[in-house]
Amino acid sequence: MNLILLGPPGAGKGTQAQELERRHKLVQLSTGDMLRAAIASGSDLGNEVKTIMDAGELVPDDIMIRMISERIDQPDCANGFILDGFPRTTAQAEALDKMLDEKDMKIDHVIEMSVDSEVLIKRIAGRFSCAGCGAGYHDEFQKPVQDGVCDHCSKTEFTRRPDDNPETVRTRLDTYEAQTAPLLPYYRGKESLRTVDAMAEIDVVTAEIETVIGGA
Ligand code: ADP
Ligand code: ADP
Ligand code: ZN
Repeated sequence: MNLILLGPPGAGKGTQAQELERRHKLVQLSTGDMLRAAIASGSDLGNEVKTIMDAGELVPDDIMIRMISERIDQPDCANGFILDGFPRTTAQAEALDKMLDEKDMKIDHVIEMSVDSEVLIKRIAGRFSCAGCGAGYHDEFQKPVQDGVCDHCSKTEFTRRPDDNPETVRTRLDTYEAQTAPLLPYYRGKESLRTVDAMAEIDVVTAEIETVIGGA
Protein backbone atom coordinates (compact mmCIF):
# COMPACT_ATOMS: atom_id res chain seq x y z
CA MET A 1 0.00 0.00 0.00
CA ASN A 2 1.31 3.43 -0.99
CA LEU A 3 0.05 6.61 0.67
CA ILE A 4 0.43 10.36 0.33
CA LEU A 5 -0.07 12.58 3.39
CA LEU A 6 -0.97 16.11 2.36
CA GLY A 7 -1.21 19.12 4.65
CA PRO A 8 0.50 22.32 5.74
CA PRO A 9 3.65 22.47 7.87
CA GLY A 10 2.68 21.37 11.39
CA ALA A 11 -0.44 19.43 10.33
CA GLY A 12 1.05 16.22 11.76
CA LYS A 13 2.23 14.46 8.58
CA GLY A 14 5.53 13.31 10.06
CA THR A 15 3.92 12.25 13.33
CA GLN A 16 1.33 10.11 11.55
CA ALA A 17 3.81 8.74 9.00
CA GLN A 18 6.08 7.56 11.85
CA GLU A 19 3.13 5.91 13.59
CA LEU A 20 2.00 4.17 10.37
CA GLU A 21 5.56 3.00 9.80
CA ARG A 22 5.59 1.44 13.28
CA ARG A 23 2.22 -0.25 12.77
CA HIS A 24 2.49 -1.45 9.18
CA LYS A 25 5.20 -2.63 6.82
CA LEU A 26 5.52 0.79 5.24
CA VAL A 27 8.46 3.18 4.94
CA GLN A 28 8.17 6.89 5.60
CA LEU A 29 9.61 8.93 2.74
CA SER A 30 10.06 12.42 4.17
CA THR A 31 11.66 14.70 1.60
CA GLY A 32 12.36 17.22 4.39
CA ASP A 33 14.33 14.56 6.32
CA MET A 34 16.20 13.54 3.15
CA LEU A 35 17.18 17.15 2.47
CA ARG A 36 18.25 17.70 6.10
CA ALA A 37 20.40 14.54 5.86
CA ALA A 38 22.01 15.95 2.68
CA ILE A 39 22.80 19.19 4.51
CA ALA A 40 24.24 17.32 7.50
CA SER A 41 26.47 15.26 5.20
CA GLY A 42 27.91 18.42 3.64
CA SER A 43 27.24 17.15 0.09
CA ASP A 44 26.98 19.48 -2.93
CA LEU A 45 23.23 18.96 -2.91
CA GLY A 46 23.11 19.86 0.79
CA ASN A 47 25.01 23.09 0.20
CA GLU A 48 22.72 23.94 -2.71
CA VAL A 49 19.48 23.50 -0.77
CA LYS A 50 20.45 24.93 2.61
CA THR A 51 19.77 28.60 1.84
CA ILE A 52 16.45 27.74 0.21
CA MET A 53 15.28 25.70 3.20
CA ASP A 54 16.45 28.30 5.73
CA ALA A 55 14.32 30.85 3.85
CA GLY A 56 11.26 28.57 3.92
CA GLU A 57 11.07 28.32 0.15
CA LEU A 58 10.76 25.25 -2.06
CA VAL A 59 13.71 23.33 -3.47
CA PRO A 60 13.46 23.11 -7.31
CA ASP A 61 11.10 20.47 -8.68
CA ASP A 62 13.72 18.63 -10.78
CA ILE A 63 15.89 17.95 -7.70
CA MET A 64 12.92 16.69 -5.70
CA ILE A 65 11.53 14.51 -8.47
CA ARG A 66 14.89 12.81 -9.02
CA MET A 67 15.31 12.30 -5.26
CA ILE A 68 11.93 10.55 -4.90
CA SER A 69 12.28 8.51 -8.07
CA GLU A 70 15.61 7.08 -6.89
CA ARG A 71 14.29 6.45 -3.38
CA ILE A 72 11.19 4.58 -4.58
CA ASP A 73 13.45 2.20 -6.52
CA GLN A 74 15.08 1.00 -3.28
CA PRO A 75 14.00 -2.52 -2.26
CA ASP A 76 12.55 -1.44 1.10
CA CYS A 77 9.81 0.51 -0.72
CA ALA A 78 8.41 -2.63 -2.35
CA ASN A 79 6.08 -3.31 0.61
CA GLY A 80 4.68 0.18 0.46
CA PHE A 81 5.62 3.75 1.32
CA ILE A 82 4.18 6.89 2.85
CA LEU A 83 5.03 10.13 1.08
CA ASP A 84 5.43 12.90 3.68
CA GLY A 85 6.21 16.30 2.17
CA PHE A 86 6.08 15.23 -1.47
CA PRO A 87 4.50 16.18 -3.83
CA ARG A 88 4.40 19.89 -2.98
CA THR A 89 3.69 21.40 -6.41
CA THR A 90 1.49 20.45 -9.33
CA ALA A 91 4.61 19.73 -11.40
CA GLN A 92 5.78 17.26 -8.69
CA ALA A 93 2.35 15.59 -8.60
CA GLU A 94 2.30 15.16 -12.38
CA ALA A 95 5.85 13.81 -12.39
CA LEU A 96 4.92 11.38 -9.61
CA ASP A 97 1.97 10.05 -11.61
CA LYS A 98 4.21 9.53 -14.60
CA MET A 99 7.04 7.82 -12.69
CA LEU A 100 4.67 5.48 -10.84
CA ASP A 101 3.06 4.56 -14.14
CA GLU A 102 6.47 3.72 -15.59
CA LYS A 103 7.40 1.67 -12.52
CA ASP A 104 4.01 -0.10 -12.58
CA MET A 105 3.16 1.25 -9.13
CA LYS A 106 0.27 3.33 -7.83
CA ILE A 107 -0.91 5.48 -4.93
CA ASP A 108 -3.72 3.80 -2.98
CA HIS A 109 -4.81 6.73 -0.80
CA VAL A 110 -4.15 10.45 -0.73
CA ILE A 111 -4.96 11.66 2.77
CA GLU A 112 -5.58 15.34 3.41
CA MET A 113 -4.78 16.37 6.97
CA SER A 114 -7.16 19.24 7.51
CA VAL A 115 -6.21 21.74 10.22
CA ASP A 116 -7.01 25.35 11.19
CA SER A 117 -4.05 27.60 10.46
CA GLU A 118 -4.11 29.13 14.00
CA VAL A 119 -2.73 25.96 15.59
CA LEU A 120 0.15 25.48 13.16
CA ILE A 121 2.52 28.10 14.60
CA LYS A 122 2.08 26.64 18.10
CA ARG A 123 2.63 23.10 16.89
CA ILE A 124 5.77 24.04 14.99
CA ALA A 125 7.16 26.24 17.79
CA GLY A 126 7.07 23.29 20.22
CA ARG A 127 8.36 20.66 17.81
CA PHE A 128 11.56 18.73 18.50
CA SER A 129 12.92 15.32 17.59
CA CYS A 130 15.24 12.61 18.85
CA ALA A 131 18.81 13.05 17.60
CA GLY A 132 19.23 9.26 17.63
CA CYS A 133 16.21 7.86 15.78
CA GLY A 134 14.39 10.97 14.53
CA ALA A 135 11.17 10.30 16.49
CA GLY A 136 9.08 13.46 16.65
CA TYR A 137 7.90 15.14 19.87
CA HIS A 138 6.20 18.31 21.12
CA ASP A 139 6.87 20.34 24.29
CA GLU A 140 3.20 20.25 25.21
CA PHE A 141 1.29 17.84 22.95
CA GLN A 142 3.63 14.87 22.61
CA LYS A 143 6.18 14.71 25.43
CA PRO A 144 8.42 11.67 25.88
CA VAL A 145 7.00 9.38 28.58
CA GLN A 146 10.14 9.97 30.64
CA ASP A 147 11.31 13.57 30.47
CA GLY A 148 14.46 13.91 28.33
CA VAL A 149 14.55 10.25 27.20
CA CYS A 150 13.39 9.06 23.77
CA ASP A 151 10.47 6.59 23.99
CA HIS A 152 11.80 4.61 21.05
CA CYS A 153 15.60 4.42 21.38
CA SER A 154 16.28 5.72 24.93
CA LYS A 155 18.74 8.36 23.68
CA THR A 156 18.81 11.62 25.61
CA GLU A 157 19.76 14.09 22.87
CA PHE A 158 17.18 16.05 20.92
CA THR A 159 17.24 18.58 18.10
CA ARG A 160 15.13 21.49 16.87
CA ARG A 161 14.94 22.57 13.23
CA PRO A 162 16.49 25.92 12.28
CA ASP A 163 13.51 26.65 9.99
CA ASP A 164 11.01 26.21 12.85
CA ASN A 165 11.27 29.88 13.86
CA PRO A 166 8.15 32.12 13.64
CA GLU A 167 9.40 34.22 10.70
CA THR A 168 10.35 31.28 8.46
CA VAL A 169 7.17 29.46 9.45
CA ARG A 170 5.10 32.32 8.07
CA THR A 171 6.91 32.07 4.72
CA ARG A 172 6.42 28.28 4.73
CA LEU A 173 2.69 28.67 5.36
CA ASP A 174 2.42 31.19 2.50
CA THR A 175 4.42 28.84 0.26
CA TYR A 176 2.01 26.03 1.17
CA GLU A 177 -1.06 28.10 0.27
CA ALA A 178 0.41 29.30 -3.02
CA GLN A 179 2.09 26.13 -4.30
CA THR A 180 0.82 23.05 -2.43
CA ALA A 181 -2.86 23.76 -1.65
CA PRO A 182 -3.69 23.49 -5.41
CA LEU A 183 -2.89 19.76 -5.10
CA LEU A 184 -6.13 19.28 -3.16
CA PRO A 185 -8.38 19.92 -6.19
CA TYR A 186 -5.85 17.98 -8.33
CA TYR A 187 -6.33 14.81 -6.25
CA ARG A 188 -10.02 15.45 -5.61
CA GLY A 189 -10.42 15.37 -9.39
CA LYS A 190 -8.87 11.93 -9.44
CA GLU A 191 -11.28 10.74 -6.72
CA SER A 192 -8.47 9.45 -4.55
CA LEU A 193 -8.55 12.15 -1.86
CA ARG A 194 -9.79 11.44 1.66
CA THR A 195 -9.85 14.08 4.39
CA VAL A 196 -9.15 13.51 8.08
CA ASP A 197 -9.66 15.98 10.92
CA ALA A 198 -6.09 16.75 11.95
CA MET A 199 -7.26 19.10 14.75
CA ALA A 200 -8.06 16.05 16.86
CA GLU A 201 -5.61 14.48 19.31
CA ILE A 202 -2.76 12.49 17.79
CA ASP A 203 -4.27 9.04 18.62
CA VAL A 204 -7.65 10.04 17.24
CA VAL A 205 -6.09 11.19 13.97
CA THR A 206 -4.22 7.87 13.73
CA ALA A 207 -7.47 5.96 14.22
CA GLU A 208 -9.15 8.01 11.51
CA ILE A 209 -6.32 7.27 9.07
CA GLU A 210 -6.53 3.57 9.95
CA THR A 211 -10.22 3.65 8.98
CA VAL A 212 -9.40 5.27 5.64
CA ILE A 213 -6.66 2.79 4.74
CA GLY A 214 -8.30 -0.25 6.31
CA GLY A 215 -11.74 -0.19 4.87
CA ALA A 216 -13.84 1.84 2.46
P1 ADP B 1 4.34 18.06 9.76
O1 ADP B 1 5.19 16.85 9.44
O2 ADP B 1 3.01 18.02 9.07
O3 ADP B 1 5.06 19.35 9.53
P2 ADP B 1 4.62 17.16 12.54
O4 ADP B 1 4.13 15.76 12.46
O5 ADP B 1 6.09 17.38 12.64
O6 ADP B 1 3.99 18.02 11.32
O7 ADP B 1 3.87 17.86 13.76
C1 ADP B 1 4.21 19.18 14.20
C2 ADP B 1 4.26 19.21 15.73
O8 ADP B 1 2.93 19.10 16.25
C3 ADP B 1 5.06 18.07 16.34
O9 ADP B 1 5.77 18.59 17.45
C4 ADP B 1 4.00 17.06 16.79
O10 ADP B 1 4.40 16.38 17.97
C5 ADP B 1 2.78 17.93 17.05
N1 ADP B 1 1.53 17.30 16.63
C6 ADP B 1 1.33 16.47 15.55
N2 ADP B 1 0.03 16.10 15.47
C7 ADP B 1 -0.62 16.72 16.49
C8 ADP B 1 -1.99 16.74 16.95
N3 ADP B 1 -2.94 16.04 16.31
N4 ADP B 1 -2.28 17.49 18.04
C9 ADP B 1 -1.31 18.19 18.67
N5 ADP B 1 -0.01 18.23 18.30
C10 ADP B 1 0.34 17.49 17.22
P1 ADP C 1 7.17 20.59 7.13
O1 ADP C 1 6.71 19.19 7.34
O2 ADP C 1 7.28 21.35 8.40
O3 ADP C 1 6.43 21.30 6.06
P2 ADP C 1 9.45 19.52 5.69
O4 ADP C 1 10.39 18.84 6.58
O5 ADP C 1 8.52 18.67 4.89
O6 ADP C 1 8.65 20.57 6.56
O7 ADP C 1 10.23 20.44 4.65
C1 ADP C 1 11.20 21.35 5.10
C2 ADP C 1 11.72 22.16 3.89
O8 ADP C 1 12.34 21.27 2.94
C3 ADP C 1 10.66 22.91 3.10
O9 ADP C 1 10.36 24.17 3.66
C4 ADP C 1 11.34 23.01 1.72
O10 ADP C 1 12.32 24.02 1.70
C5 ADP C 1 12.07 21.67 1.60
N1 ADP C 1 11.24 20.61 0.96
C6 ADP C 1 10.80 19.46 1.53
N2 ADP C 1 10.10 18.73 0.65
C7 ADP C 1 10.07 19.44 -0.51
C8 ADP C 1 9.47 19.25 -1.79
N3 ADP C 1 8.74 18.15 -2.07
N4 ADP C 1 9.65 20.21 -2.73
C9 ADP C 1 10.37 21.31 -2.48
N5 ADP C 1 10.95 21.57 -1.30
C10 ADP C 1 10.81 20.65 -0.31
ZN1 ZN D 1 14.99 8.07 19.60
